[in-house]
Amino acid sequence: MSASYTDRAAGAGNGEALIRLENVSRVYRMGDSEVRALDDVSLAVGRGEFVALMGPSGSGKSTLLHVLGCLDSPTSGAYALEGQAVHDLSEDRLAEIRQKRIGFIFQSYHLVPRMTAARNVELPMLLAGVEPSERRERVRVALESVGLGRRARHRPDEMSGGERQRVAIARAMVMRPHLLLADEPTGNLDSRTGDEIVALLEGLNAAGLTIVLVTHDPRIAGHAGRLIRMLDGRIQADGAEEEPAFSGGAAATGPPATPGSPPVSRAGEFKP
Ligand code: ADP
Ligand code: MG
Repeated sequence: MSASYTDRAAGAGNGEALIRLENVSRVYRMGDSEVRALDDVSLAVGRGEFVALMGPSGSGKSTLLHVLGCLDSPTSGAYALEGQAVHDLSEDRLAEIRQKRIGFIFQSYHLVPRMTAARNVELPMLLAGVEPSERRERVRVALESVGLGRRARHRPDEMSGGERQRVAIARAMVMRPHLLLADEPTGNLDSRTGDEIVALLEGLNAAGLTIVLVTHDPRIAGHAGRLIRMLDGRIQADGAEEEPAFSGGAAATGPPATPGSPPVSRAGEFKP
């Protein structure tokens, strides 16, 4: 394994969007009624973007993240991830894409309670069949990079919320994903701890990682380069960080922000 994290994050480098959704809908049918959790969403996200997703409860944020993360498939419409159509792939192929290219973090961390931090971080590599010696080294580097080098042997119930979320970030990054999806990752944390988590995410983004983050907190969203507002399963506004008070007018439908120039430095963080 010689490619650095940054090399892999930059991918083929042919300039295509990392994410491209075209007229994606996700309809839940329950008996006679249906819920359009996503309603004709089109969206492009370039490599290296940091996108915040806001909107009221039930507006479709988590559904959008699940589709982006290949945890769920659109009812209609097209999804291309790194130029590859993924909307009609089999569950096996989707699982492979999730494992190799996508990291997730959640509001409630989703760590395995009876496993140590090190074991939690190791888990995705166990499932992917990474060699034991490489697993150990990657666990060490990942935990150090989130400031938990000395907490490797602790279990989640011996850690604070902020520490648990850092373990979750280390776990999400250990397979060197190209895309990190975060569903209200600071929702259970006090504001100072939330700021620390966002600072970590900003560091990963600066090293080339593309991030889509759901948040209710405008202050957290302010760290992202682009803010997307959802309402009733649709994108209501999409642009660079804007004044929240002005969002009542026509939705901005301009092109997505241009991804940053190819990242350099800090590339060794998740390198074995
Ligand atoms: P948000 O994350 O913005 O709160 P969600 O994406 O969770 O919104 O939900 C969007 C809509 O889809 C809501 O009306 C919700 O009730 C509905 N929904 C979400 N998941 C399911 C499901 N598994 N079955 C039925 N309806 C669902
Ligand atoms: Mg949600």
